[in-house]
Amino acid sequence: MNIVLLGAPGAGKGTQAEKLIEAYDIAHISTGDILRASVKAGTPLGLEAKSYMDAGELVPDSVVIGLVKERLQEEDAEGGSILDGFPRTAAQAEALSSELEAMGRGIDFAIAVNVDPEVIVGRLCNRRLCKVCGYIGNVDDAVCPLCGGEMFQRDDDNPEVVRNRLDVYEKSTAPLIDYYRGAGILVEVNGELSPNEVFANIQSIIN
Ligand code: AMP
Repeated sequence: MNIVLLGAPGAGKGTQAEKLIEAYDIAHISTGDILRASVKAGTPLGLEAKSYMDAGELVPDSVVIGLVKERLQEEDAEGGSILDGFPRTAAQAEALSSELEAMGRGIDFAIAVNVDPEVIVGRLCNRRLCKVCGYIGNVDDAVCPLCGGEMFQRDDDNPEVVRNRLDVYEKSTAPLIDYYRGAGILVEVNGELSPNEVFANIQSIIN
């Protein structure tokens, strides 16, 4: 099963992806996570990606498409994958479809997690993540509620960059909702419900 999670930054794609991989035996492919790990490791890819990420701009298609193609070949992705934060442009969507087709696979669902932009800005500016396990929480979590790890704020979760990320989303990524609707695989969920309610709705669609 291959699922594309669509939605603005902060819509809750990462949280739902974590729940999905726990419930189904499929790989989590988050281009944001891969890019952040490369930035942290100081690899050539990370050095190239950092300036785009710091500004809330998209990393060039050629770079992220290459990353996802490689990631899809990994063993844990054989049984399927949750694509979280990819595709973000029409070119990426086309590349994903061709790559999956070449592998004899396809996208089962494109799930759009819908959240009002005003809610998004508040969520992103208050978002905090666990340094140890990656748990996605908020400013009220003094330490990680799952593992006790230290919480931190992403560099790009500041008001100025958040606004740009939302503009970029509207311009480049939101049109993919129509793209997948046209392909007959779009489902939409209300992302303003609690994470567990959103997940229950997603599960009822998948099952
Ligand atoms: P995310 O964690 O998905 O919010 O991604 C963080 C940042 O990584 C984005 O603002 C982009 O700069 C970059 N990024 C992640 N995924 C992509 C993608 N599919 N295409 C281009 N840039 C991406």
